[in-house]
Amino acid sequence: MIIIMKPNASKEAIRGVTCQIEAKGLQVHLSEGHEVTIVGVVGDKSLLHGINFEIADGVDKVVAVTESYKLANRKFHPEASTVLVGNTSIGPGSLTIMAGPCAVESREQLLETAVAVKKAGANFLRGGAYKPRTSPYSFQGLEEEGLRYMKEAREATGLAVVCEVTSQHAIETAVKYVDMLQIGARNMQNFELLKEAGKARVPVLLKRGLSATIDEWLNAAEYIMSEGNERVVLCERGIRTYETSTRNTLDISAVPVLRSKSHLPVIVDPSHATGVRAYVPPLAKSAVAAGADGLMIEVHPDPARALSDGPQSLTFGQFEQLCASLRPYARLEGRKF
Ligand code: PEP
Ligand code: MN
Repeated sequence: MIIIMKPNASKEAIRGVTCQIEAKGLQVHLSEGHEVTIVGVVGDKSLLHGINFEIADGVDKVVAVTESYKLANRKFHPEASTVLVGNTSIGPGSLTIMAGPCAVESREQLLETAVAVKKAGANFLRGGAYKPRTSPYSFQGLEEEGLRYMKEAREATGLAVVCEVTSQHAIETAVKYVDMLQIGARNMQNFELLKEAGKARVPVLLKRGLSATIDEWLNAAEYIMSEGNERVVLCERGIRTYETSTRNTLDISAVPVLRSKSHLPVIVDPSHATGVRAYVPPLAKSAVAAGADGLMIEVHPDPARALSDGPQSLTFGQFEQLCASLRPYARLEGRKF
């Protein structure tokens, strides 16, 4: 349930409403916009039975929120959110480019890539130190050593760094080294992991599950936010369909759908969505045109020798070309890049 206050509602009137809600043991989420304040109610609203907020001082109207996700819901926060990460931010008005190798393979590989993607225009370095591989015999990541290289790359370039975490232990370790935690597709409904990420005071990039609906995805975001961490960014990375020409099918419609259902920033990962290097640039452009707040692109100094996801990784030159070709699209969408 949300209580929409009148444009001129006084602070006392707002406090009067929030006090009644809190007195019943429910949580209040305040969204103070330019014009109106919206009081969001989180918890079992049957506890408010008998209170008629419609006639309370300063209240315009009361609207039921039927969706099970509340904090991630656009009704709770009508303006699009900007998520601050280190010295940078993800949200309206800018185009965030996260780029880097699928996996951190060595110090040299990572530092070399960080310098190249920064020069081309990226503002984040991505790199996996804990790799959730399909086969247990595939390269599993350098773990803490990889995180140390990520931190070193940040210090050398000023890029913000994002790294996937796959366990509570990985979260505890990663928060010492990175600016943003990534929850991968395979863990989108690992609710214990989501709660731990919610307790970490670090922004979270939440990828869409392999076969997750948008509502399931927003409920996953709610798990993180309900633990007190509201700095969540969503990443569409393709879903499982019957089509086999691409690794997954990029659900570009997720971008406008999420926009209408949620206030959280949305980025698109055309690398994992397609699995094919040649398809990455056209889908990156379509994501910007659809209104995405950013992109995640895999880049490797020598894709043919990459320990994971080589076929979808761009070379430095290809990434630089992609960034140049994205600039007019960003301009058309009113996004600084
Ligand atoms: C990744 O970003 O390295 C990754 C494994 O992606 P996803 O979880 O989307 O498969
Ligand atoms: Mn990858």
